[in-house]
Amino acid sequence: MKKTAFSILPLAETLLTNLESLGYEHMTAIQAESLPAILQGHDLIAQAKTGSGKTAAFGLGILSALNPRWFGVQALVLCPTRELADQVAQEIRRLARSIDNIKVLTLTGGTPMGPQIGSLEHGAHIVVGTPGRLQDHLFRQTLNLSGVKTLVLDEADRMVDMGFIEEIVGIIRACPKQRQTLLFSATYPEDIRKISAQFLKRPLEIKVEALHKADHIEQWFYKVKPEARLETVSHILLHLRPTSALAFCNTKERCKELVRDLQARGFAALALYGDLEQRERDQILLRFANKSVTVLVATDVAARGLDIKELDLVINVDVTHDPEIHIHRIGRTGRANQHGLAFTLTTEGDAKRLIQIENYQQAELTWANLSELSAAPGGRLVPTMATLEIAGGKRDKLRPGDILGALTGEAGFTGNQIGKIAILELASFVALERTIAQAALQRLSNCKIKGRQFKMRLLED
Ligand code: AMP
Repeated sequence: MKKTAFSILPLAETLLTNLESLGYEHMTAIQAESLPAILQGHDLIAQAKTGSGKTAAFGLGILSALNPRWFGVQALVLCPTRELADQVAQEIRRLARSIDNIKVLTLTGGTPMGPQIGSLEHGAHIVVGTPGRLQDHLFRQTLNLSGVKTLVLDEADRMVDMGFIEEIVGIIRACPKQRQTLLFSATYPEDIRKISAQFLKRPLEIKVEALHKADHIEQWFYKVKPEARLETVSHILLHLRPTSALAFCNTKERCKELVRDLQARGFAALALYGDLEQRERDQILLRFANKSVTVLVATDVAARGLDIKELDLVINVDVTHDPEIHIHRIGRTGRANQHGLAFTLTTEGDAKRLIQIENYQQAELTWANLSELSAAPGGRLVPTMATLEIAGGKRDKLRPGDILGALTGEAGFTGNQIGKIAILELASFVALERTIAQAALQRLSNCKIKGRQFKMRLLED
């Protein structure tokens, strides 16, 4: 792959230094193709998927055009889901951390309106939101888009799939005519074509091959008997001993079945499927991301928009009927040019699907033999971390520093024994090294955090 340094771009020195500190040495393909045009103010239609580095492409465009001294909304990013909006906002904050006082606000459904309105009154430079909630704010006149210079439609095809077309059009109309519009979409259905023709000005069109086009994802296909499917998954896990693995099943029932089987065999595994409550879903994702759960078993719909870094392994427990979904699944590992590993289990009835995948990826399938998988010594696969749930969150004005302070102060632990701390509305989740988890629970239960004692428990499967 051709490597281009960010320094050839007309970016502010502070942004360049920050990119270096984030470890972004070279541009990804989409960045190299889109950033020169984005920085010149052109409109853009880009066919790129999660994992391509597209967020940084539009994020750097937004930040370059921003006036930090004016606290009005200057950039708006539309995303299909709350999770994606959170990820996008997080990435923009990381990119912006070298510029003083840039406010990035997420406006998504499922959270109360009041605090969002309050934050808007305080002023925000960049808003990242979902169409329904943004429209609500426009309707109530709590969001003013008249100062928007950059409008981004992220995963436009998914927003249209989810039935948001009217909201999208309404929001675009609330932005000034004089603006830059950047549209990202993995596919090009008719509705997206119409939106582009109507609302984009002579856009540059680029299409970037999915980053994971075979060369940095190692794929292996295995033939299994249907009844051996579940056992084979645990065999693969014991052989490879990943810290984080994502297993895809075609149905919710299969997800549940596999998770029951894995848990019975002593793995830390959880299932993610469509009709979970948002609270449950948040908690599952959090425990997987903080490395206290080894295996996440998911359906395709449930895994949409998931951005877990450092995923060692993808296992396709069932072959999907859609080759594009297959490529999407395996692309979860090997993000942003890193090496990835994907295993696919196939049974006799899958022949047609496999030919489709082969044609789609334009590379022959690489077959391996199950007998080559030995369960490496080391016994049970135990996650490195455990999650402590504290019954207090944002509503109690808890901050990560308060919890870290209590753990490293009165409770006597060291900072490197503590992992990610996530504060949600009503509860907080702290990743702890598994070896100290019990002791931490006991000591912290008897400590005061911010002058109060909170109930807490370790989350077990
Ligand atoms: P995205 O496609 O925007 O979801 O980005 C995928 C991941 O790649 C994110 O975790 C980014 O932090 C990371 N990333 C984006 N650009 C680069 C780059 N130039 N070098 C290394 N990592 C990157």
